Amino acid sequence: METLIDRLEQTRHLDERGLRALLTTTDTGAVEHLHRRARAVAQAHYGTGIYVRGLIELTNVCRNDCLYCGIRRSNHHVERYTLTAEQVLSCCEQGYRLGFRTLVLQGGEWSDDRAGWIADLVGEMRRRWPDCAITLSLGEHSREVYSLWRDSGADRYLLRHETHNRAHYSRLHPAEMSRDHRLQCLRWLRELDYQVGTGIMVGSPWQTVDHLVEDLQFMAEFGPQMVGLGPFIAQHDTPLGGYPNGTADMTTRLYSIVRLMLPTALIPSTTALATLSPEGRLQGILAGANVVMPNLSPSDQRANYALYDGKASTGAEAAEGIRRLESQLATIGYHIDWSRGDHRG
Ligand code: SAM
Repeated sequence: METLIDRLEQTRHLDERGLRALLTTTDTGAVEHLHRRARAVAQAHYGTGIYVRGLIELTNVCRNDCLYCGIRRSNHHVERYTLTAEQVLSCCEQGYRLGFRTLVLQGGEWSDDRAGWIADLVGEMRRRWPDCAITLSLGEHSREVYSLWRDSGADRYLLRHETHNRAHYSRLHPAEMSRDHRLQCLRWLRELDYQVGTGIMVGSPWQTVDHLVEDLQFMAEFGPQMVGLGPFIAQHDTPLGGYPNGTADMTTRLYSIVRLMLPTALIPSTTALATLSPEGRLQGILAGANVVMPNLSPSDQRANYALYDGKASTGAEAAEGIRRLESQLATIGYHIDWSRGDHRG
């Protein structure tokens, strides 16, 4: 098993059998070796600095109906909100003062006819904070809309492919959504020169080891600058509310495998992983993640961005808890790197 891990580190590649072996091994020593090598590779490229991104949850209004997601349009138990431009700008201002140099706007997916409002907002952010990276995570749109947002000043875009397997994708999404369209969006974003992030939910219902192998092969081939991997966590008002959560073990194994396949990738230790267990965030970093995304949203709205049950949004998960995050990182020999944190590729 250790030979496989060393081969992955040296060649950045493993065949299907090798990947399956790493994903299924019960040899805890081998898993520890995997994490150790991934950590060493992350440190070789990024040192012991962890980049921080200020996350603003712009809206929980969504036209989509993903079966796993708490803000799907059919969930009538959610109180819907959209931040005003002034609220967003004041979150950015607060984030900038705290030291953040990447601002992320994430939210439910709107129709393209409201794209101009986002473009104006991004333009204003770009004008006020020219030294910040602006990341968008607002779902699937036309090439024209992505181009408009890019021209307004957005630098990066996060769009997890969720699962590369077409049949699995169809079980998790309504008929009007398709894996092929999601991948098309990723290609448009790449063409428009965004730094692109993709990724999956780990342990989503019906996910198999073969699906994970397919996801890893897709990511190796696509070569995203950012990779978002978080455990699936059930949300009780969704059709998948009764399914078991993904595990921290599988999520951190994937961080390490992705780190060895894509050594310079920006990999967040996700909020969903931190929600599973209090040590989740640090475990993610020790498995090779090098980014965290504290929440900058107004605290009275955070509960309404309930993608899954128990979603962490306070303490070290919140931007105002940044000192706590700093001291947690210090316990494992890491620190916050306050720079924009672009991909070093
Ligand atoms: N609408 C945009 C999109 O679809 O990319 C961005 C917002 S969406 C809520 C952000 C991410 O939340 C999704 O890519 C998905 O992986 C994650 N998510 C949604 N429901 C989840 C759940 N129940 N457990 C874990 N992650 C979830």
